[in-house]
Amino acid sequence: MRLLLVEDDRMIGAALRKGLQQEGHTVDWMTEGTGVAPALASAAYNLVILDLGLPGRSGLEVLAEIRRRKESVPVIIVTARDGVQDRIAGLDMGADDYLVKPFDLDELAARIRAVMRRQAGHAAGLLEHGDLALNPATHEVFRNGQPVPVSGREFAILEALLERPGAILSRAQLEDRLYGWGEEVASNAVEVHIHNLRRKLGDAVIHTVRGMGYSRQKPA
Ligand code: CA
Repeated sequence: MRLLLVEDDRMIGAALRKGLQQEGHTVDWMTEGTGVAPALASAAYNLVILDLGLPGRSGLEVLAEIRRRKESVPVIIVTARDGVQDRIAGLDMGADDYLVKPFDLDELAARIRAVMRRQAGHAAGLLEHGDLALNPATHEVFRNGQPVPVSGREFAILEALLERPGAILSRAQLEDRLYGWGEEVASNAVEVHIHNLRRKLGDAVIHTVRGMGYSRQKPA
C-alpha cells in the first residue's frame, strides 16, 4: 500500500518509514502539515499516519482540511500520552483510529490492517476473487487454496487489481502504488512484475487492456 507519513520527529519518522517499508508498504514521509493536502491531491494514498503535534500547522488542522475536502482516505492519528483531548477531537473530526506514543511498530501495522479491512468491508480479512485469495495481513497469495510465493511488489500489484476487479488500472496508477517519492522507476518495471505474476499464477490472472492498462477481470 502507499502510505503518507506526517511526523516532525526525525528519529521516529525514519524508524517508522523503515519499519513500514519492511512490511512491504511504499512510504512518503513529510515533516510538516502544510504539504498534506497537495500530496493527497497528487497521488492515490491508501492511508495517512498523522502526528498531531506538528510545528506550524497542527495535525488537527490538517485533519480538518482533509475531511473538509471530502477526502475519504483513512487517517490514523498519533498523539502524546497526555493528549486525550486531542484524541477525542481527532476521532470526532473523522480519524479512523489512533495510537499513543510510544507505540510498537507491530501494533501500528496491525492497526493499519484493521483500518484497511474495515474500509474494504472484508470482515474476514481476505481479498478474494475467482480462484485467487490474498491475505493483506501476511502478504500471502493462494490459488485454489494453494500458497504461491510472490515478491512484495508483485503482491502490491495483485492487491491493487483485486481491490476493484472490474477496474482498469493504468501503468502510471500501478507505479504509484509501487514507488514513493524520489524512487527511481524503471520504465518496464510494471510489465516485468506482471510477467512474473502470470508465470506464477497463469496468464489469465491479469488481463491487458490495449492502450489503457490492466484489469483483473476480462473487460466485457
Ligand atoms: Ca510531533
